[in-house]
Amino acid sequence: MTTLSLSEPGTGTHFYLPQTTLEAISPEQFRVSGKKTFVTNGGYADLYVVSTVAAEPHAPPGQFSCIVVPGDAEGLEIGPHWQGLGLRGNSSRTITLNDVVINRRDLLGREGDQIWYVFQVIVPYFLMAMAGTYLGVAGGALEEAQTHLCQRHYSSSGSTLAQQPVVQHRLGELWGTFERTRQLIYHAAQSFDAGQPSSLTSVFSAKAEAADAVVHIVNEVMTLMGGTAYGEGSKLHRMLRDARAAHVMSPTTDLLRIWAGRALLDQPLLSP
Ligand SMILES: Cc1cc2nc3c(=O)[nH]c(=O)nc-3n(C[C@H](O)[C@H](O)[C@H](O)COP(=O)(O)OP(=O)(O)OC[C@H]3O[C@@H](n4cnc5c(N)ncnc54)[C@H](O)[C@@H]3O)c2cc1C
Repeated sequence: MTTLSLSEPGTGTHFYLPQTTLEAISPEQFRVSGKKTFVTNGGYADLYVVSTVAAEPHAPPGQFSCIVVPGDAEGLEIGPHWQGLGLRGNSSRTITLNDVVINRRDLLGREGDQIWYVFQVIVPYFLMAMAGTYLGVAGGALEEAQTHLCQRHYSSSGSTLAQQPVVQHRLGELWGTFERTRQLIYHAAQSFDAGQPSSLTSVFSAKAEAADAVVHIVNEVMTLMGGTAYGEGSKLHRMLRDARAAHVMSPTTDLLRIWAGRALLDQPLLSP
């Protein structure tokens, strides 16, 4: 199992500005030193893809390197377990690289060329995968709502929640949010595949909109379902916790909005 180790305490949301150092100590070897935060599967992964400073100190933002560090490398220290909100199957831990010596052949690509990685791998695949995942959580919440609203029956009036106009209106509004987000995700994927120049803006916006949509939809479905949703074992309980992570999963919603704005204004995307 391999995991991405990009985030750092010193640069946070700006994952493309690592401070972890990569120093050539011989023609065959590098020394890697630094600290990474929130490494998912930390302590369990066989391999860690670690981002480091660019080869050249004055390189423009984004020109970082990535190197593969084995989980059993000498000097790799795994921090304490992390108890994240709701993420019970997730181990997002701090790792510290104390002068870890790595073979040159384990460098991904060439030194400092990972700007390519950000926009050819992270952007199209990572963002679309996250957008689709969070849309799926939103869709699951809507299905839970539909089932519950049809089944919830009041003995006093003989009616179901599904027959209440306010509930019908609220569900209709949520479905509209879901559907327009789904169409944006499809559009972003299709335009990127077609190589359209504006596709990056759509891809940035797809993940940002999916994050907004899932937080809004799951939150509102909690209300629609009343007390039932609050039970420890309810699906909504888990969905609410999962949805919350959407905004801070890198690239964060804030960063994506800024990137979209910069693209529209013809400004460089990656500045601090
Ligand atoms: C459950 C979970 C799993 C994760 N898994 C991984 C992983 O496997 N690998 C990995 O490398 N990282 C992982 N991360 C880290 C995640 O990518 C970071 O949380 C993210 O990069 C934000 O960094 P930060 O928490 O330091 O936020 P901060 O940098 O402290 O920012 C806080 C908020 O302010 C906003 N903000 C701050 N400055 C700016 C700015 N200049 N422009 C725009 N917005 C700004 C951010 O968008 C964010 O919402 C994980 C995080 C979580 C919660």
